[in-house]
Amino acid sequence: MIPYGRQEISKSDVESVISVLQSEYLTQGPVVEKFENYIADFCNSKYSVAVNSATSALHIAVASLELGHDDILWTSPITFVASANCARYCGASVDFIDIDPDTFNICPDALNEKLEHAQRAGRLPSVIVVVHMGGQSADMERISCVVRPYGIRIVEDASHAIGGYYHGRPVGNCEFSDITVFSFHPVKIITTAEGGMALTNSEELASKMKLLRSHGITRDQSIMTRTASGSWYYEQLELGWNYRMSDIHAALGLSQANRISNFVERRNRLASVYDELLDELPVDIPGRQKNTVSSFHLYIIRLKDELSVRQREIFGFLSSKGIGVNIHYIPVHLQPYYRALGFREGDYPIAEDYYSRALTIPLFPNLSSEQQLEVVHALKTVINQSSSMDSLAA
Ligand SMILES: *Cc1c(COP(=O)(O)O)cnc(C)c1O
Repeated sequence: MIPYGRQEISKSDVESVISVLQSEYLTQGPVVEKFENYIADFCNSKYSVAVNSATSALHIAVASLELGHDDILWTSPITFVASANCARYCGASVDFIDIDPDTFNICPDALNEKLEHAQRAGRLPSVIVVVHMGGQSADMERISCVVRPYGIRIVEDASHAIGGYYHGRPVGNCEFSDITVFSFHPVKIITTAEGGMALTNSEELASKMKLLRSHGITRDQSIMTRTASGSWYYEQLELGWNYRMSDIHAALGLSQANRISNFVERRNRLASVYDELLDELPVDIPGRQKNTVSSFHLYIIRLKDELSVRQREIFGFLSSKGIGVNIHYIPVHLQPYYRALGFREGDYPIAEDYYSRALTIPLFPNLSSEQQLEVVHALKTVINQSSSMDSLAA
């Protein structure tokens, strides 16, 4: 079985985790702080807040921006559900912006047009979550130009994109956003098993997120409402959650973080090999944007028209050959939960067309040349089969 994504755990990753297990702190302690500092330095951002998942990071990000019941959050329909769900946790409404068919990221023109309509209707969003689909940064400069005049806040869901670059600067530097979120789930670029992080250049947002990560509790006298009556004293200032990352998880993340660039280089090299191997097949390979380096979390091909009707068959054939294909993503607005909120098929035609032809094929740093050839061979075999009956028999 060749999975679509897989972590790489080195001997030093293991040793790093063991050393924490044998130390004084297990939960959030000095290693979490080291990990936070490492990632903030790597990404050129001022502050970073480690949490137990990217989902939690998205939640505290929008909560710190004070998204509430009367607010609306916009995001891409082609993303993991968490990018939209963070709004619902805060009681806010969700709406979507259709994608650009070449990048699978939100389309800045569609965004611009939708904002003009929303302004006329008096229904402007307060936050936009921009997803860097597959690891390639969205056009943040353009998006921020479109959005800023409305005073809308921007969160980058960069769950796929640590180690990527946009206009020569690392994703996560928050030049064009208020907060950037990373995921450290095992299929992503680096892992802490479960974990995430929120980066920002705002001291205020960073403090707010730190408070919300741990019940809304502080031991910092400078922000307490009363003078501490003793060293046991703490105050709960807000309603927060327990979203802390443990030092055990941070130890894995810190050790992995040394290899971000190495992982991204290997992913890019493998992606170029796929580009060549797939050259003569009736599929579109992932497009590359100018001045942008994708971290290549996902290698997504699109089946051309004559093949797209066979998406299910191709998926089934590759799976039967032990090749872990996947489809990223089922458009979020078509999930039953979001349909129940009023979304319908046809609402985002470009996203829906993309979904009908997309196929993620295996890509991870340790993918071997033999495995890559096996994937492409299986793809060629199924494409060249004249009828779907052959593949059912296979
Ligand atoms: C993986 C992912 C998330 C959620 O990450 P977790 O760390 O599993 O919570 C959110 N958004 C996107 C785009 C993702 O790919």
